[in-house]
Order: sequence, then structure tokens, then C-alpha cells
Amino acid sequence: MDERWTLKKGATALVTGGTKGIGRAIVEELAKFGAYVYTCSRNQAELAECLKQWEGKNFKVTGSVCDVCSRTEREKLMENVSAVFEGKLDIFINNVGGGVRKPTMEYTAEDYSLTMTTNFESALHLSQLAHPLLKASKSGSVVFISSTSTLHVYVKSALYTASKGALNQLAKHLACEWSKDNIRVNVVGPSVVKTPLIESLVS
Ligand code: NAP
Repeated sequence: MDERWTLKKGATALVTGGTKGIGRAIVEELAKFGAYVYTCSRNQAELAECLKQWEGKNFKVTGSVCDVCSRTEREKLMENVSAVFEGKLDIFINNVGGGVRKPTMEYTAEDYSLTMTTNFESALHLSQLAHPLLKASKSGSVVFISSTSTLHVYVKSALYTASKGALNQLAKHLACEWSKDNIRVNVVGPSVVKTPLIESLVS
């Protein structure tokens, strides 16, 4: 395993949406490499169960409930992260995402707001909040979980893919703006991965 890649000793990471699917896999991969991980989700019971399981595997993972759609909860989340990691963050994985599948003519104002807030606004604001911590680490890394859907056309997915496309563009700007602070910004665009999100779409 160590031959695939390495992490600096004592690396700290924030992974949003770490209790299921891709986010959970990222939490566990980072923890296996010795990182100190902080994660969040909206469901207190599921989060507590995950933290218990990770403790049993000797993973160094802590977390708290946060709905990334709430500005005040995002601020509280980053305050917690800053307190736990003493003001320094090496890795920020912006994983939470989702959307409403409908033909474009059926989208409501609420669909627009929820999708853009979940996928784009939260990523922008959390990145702004994380910036001082990433800068303090002197080797920060941000990863936005986008989607290969930005490269194609999938039925009933205009809003979701547009929000992910905006995320891609944000990443390009942050990568340029924040390179002076030694912060790398990248996008990972998964294709279809069998997670609870995908299972809910096909059921
Ligand atoms: P998932 O199975 O639905 O898991 C999402 C995770 O995020 C859960 O832990 C969920 O927990 C948490 N979450 C959802 N909304 C949240 C919110 N508002 N605030 C805080 N936590 C929240 O999703 P996934 O399939 O792993 O997808 C992860 C990312 O990959 C998303 O950005 C998605 O767009 C992207 N992606 C996925 C696929 C795929 O095929 N699966 C393909 C391309 C891109 P709670 O519900 O308890 O909050």
C-alpha cells in the first residue's frame, strides 16, 4: 500500500460527507495512510456509528454534524477543524454533492437553490474559510469532487452538471490565485461509482 503514494507524517485532512460512498472511502484511505481526518455529515447517528467503527480500526478520525448548505454551520465546522488541528489544515476534500434529476423545464427555484448551494456555494465558502488554515500548513491541497458528467450530456442532469462545471471553473481560478500560498487546487471527476447516491437514482 505504501508504494502507491505517501502522506507527510501527521497530515491533517477535512473530508465533507464522509459517512457514505466516495467520501467515506476517502476518509478511510487517508486514515490508513496515517492522516488525522475530520469529517461531517447531516445525520448524527450515522456519524457516531462511523466514528465508532473507525476508532475500532485505530483510525484517527473525528467529526461533527454539519449541513454544508448552511452558512453558519459551515463557519462552525471550520471553527471545529481549526480547534482540533490547531489552525493548520493540509488537505481539504470538498466531497458533498448531489442534485435533482428532472427535465430542465421542470426545475423549480428550490431545485436550483438546493443544487447550487450543495455543489457550488458550499465549496466556495468552505474554501474561503479553509484558506487561512491551508496557508498555515505551508503545503495545502484542495480537492473538489466534481463529475465526468461535466464532459457529457446525461438526461435530466442539466442543473447538476452545470453546478459541477462551475466547480471546475472555480478550481482553475483558486489554483492560480492560491499557488502563491503554496496551496494546490485540483478537481477529481468520478464516473459512475456504486454509492447510496447512485442507488437512489436508479431505484
Ligand atoms: P452519497 O453516497 O450520497 O454520500 C454523500 C455523503 O455526503 C454522505 O455522507 C451524506 O451524509 C453527506 N452529505 C450529503 N449532503 C450533505 C450536506 N448537505 N451536508 C453535509 N453532508 C452531506 O454520495 P457519493 O455518490 O459518494 O458522491 C460523493 C461526491 O461524488 C458528490 O459530490 C457527487 O456529486 C460526486 N460524484 C459521484 C458519482 C457517483 O457515481 N457516485 C459520480 C460522479 C460524481 P448525510 O446524508 O447523512 O448528510
